Amino acid sequence: MDANGGSKKDFSTAILERKKAPNRLLADDGEGSVVPDNSTVAITTAAMEQLGIYVGDLVLLRGKRRRETVCYALPDDSCPEGRVRVSRGVRANLRVKLGDVVTVNRRLDVPNGTRVQVTPFEDSMDGISGDLFEAYLKPYFREYLRPLCKGDTFMVRGNMRAVEFKVVATEPADCVLVAQDTTIFCDSGKPVKREDEERLDGPGYDDVGGVRKQLAQIRELVELPLRHPKLFQTLGVKPPKGILLYGPPGTGKTLLARAIASESGAHFVVVNGPEIMSKMAGESEENLRKVFEDAEKLAPSIIFMDEIDAIAPNRDKTHGEVERRVVSQLLTLMDGLRPRAQVVVIGATNRPNSLDPALRRFGRFDRELDIGVPDEVGRLEILRIHSKDMPLADDADLERICKDTHGFVGADLAALCSEAAFQLIREKMDVIDVEEETIDVDVLNSLRVCNDHLKHAMEV
Ligand code: ADP
Repeated sequence: MDANGGSKKDFSTAILERKKAPNRLLADDGEGSVVPDNSTVAITTAAMEQLGIYVGDLVLLRGKRRRETVCYALPDDSCPEGRVRVSRGVRANLRVKLGDVVTVNRRLDVPNGTRVQVTPFEDSMDGISGDLFEAYLKPYFREYLRPLCKGDTFMVRGNMRAVEFKVVATEPADCVLVAQDTTIFCDSGKPVKREDEERLDGPGYDDVGGVRKQLAQIRELVELPLRHPKLFQTLGVKPPKGILLYGPPGTGKTLLARAIASESGAHFVVVNGPEIMSKMAGESEENLRKVFEDAEKLAPSIIFMDEIDAIAPNRDKTHGEVERRVVSQLLTLMDGLRPRAQVVVIGATNRPNSLDPALRRFGRFDRELDIGVPDEVGRLEILRIHSKDMPLADDADLERICKDTHGFVGADLAALCSEAAFQLIREKMDVIDVEEETIDVDVLNSLRVCNDHLKHAMEV
């Protein structure tokens, strides 16, 4: 109860709450009367009316990690209320899973493309030869004016096989319609490698577990100012320039910083403390200067300083000339950051008290977040994240494992999952022939990680 007798609402994680707006719909799958493909989505007629969308209008869809794409909207009254039916391909482009929020807005100004460039995925071309353009792209784009956005991928079925393409470039805008006079370049010489694509993405918020409160704080302190500088200008306050994450190794400090960068679309640079210190005299300072200069150029940016205690130890307690110079350089650089530069420095350390106190003053690293060892609930969240792509047997009891892993940090739990998988592989060595080129599909399909594998991994 507060002084006025009302009960106080806790706003500490308000940033994580979903906003309710009619154009924020939940992703639903494509089963139904209208089956959405790469270029269409379906919503109810009531939702269309509410959002001012007419049948066949183009809509801009926004998903996670600032991903956007454009599709045609179709009516489908079998679609549940508050949902939008999106095909698997569109979900992948928006980086959303079923049940995630997709924002839908009518979009009228999509120009006809003059030129688009697409590249096939290497793994979807296995065993396919011949002219991809004639066999796949020409028929695919013949039917109607398909919208394409730069960075999208799309799947084309033909000749009993499906080939997946990535849109590498579009002109004259980032989203275009492929019309009759659009020139399609198909760069079949250099197919896209799946691993490269996945690496481009970086981790998202749902890859970090057990840090709900800290995630809310860091999003408020970093993502909000980077994405909406106006908000802070209007209120006349300066967002923090530096944030210190402290906690034992392997608790997810780096992961959290990376997730913030990829979800907010910020440029991300890592500065490794011990590495930068090992440089020749004068070089460390020059390197730091360069990092800050580039970050300002490529803003919005996040500079992540791992093991910052190695760069900036307490000047009173260190005798090293290099450290003294580097600390002063870092202070100068942080003080020199313009409030509107949209650059945030995130420092990570295991020993916050060994840091030079000058760095922790107002206007520098003036916010500190404790990323502690996760509790049981946190451990379960982390285990679920690391086992999400793992075929688990029915007896796999993650709750039990969480109870028995007191003191484990995120990195330990990630290692536990991979060790469990290795244990399963060891057991299956009698049916896996290392000398063979491929592994039998039946063997692959039969793999299940059981409770015993997890228990074994816990004890390693
Ligand atoms: P730190 O920077 O605190 O030393 P990292 O972020 O480098 O820790 O963690 C190493 C790895 O451990 C991560 O890449 C991730 O696989 C796993 N991990 C650590 N913490 C978490 C967490 N909170 N949630 C999910 N995975 C985690």
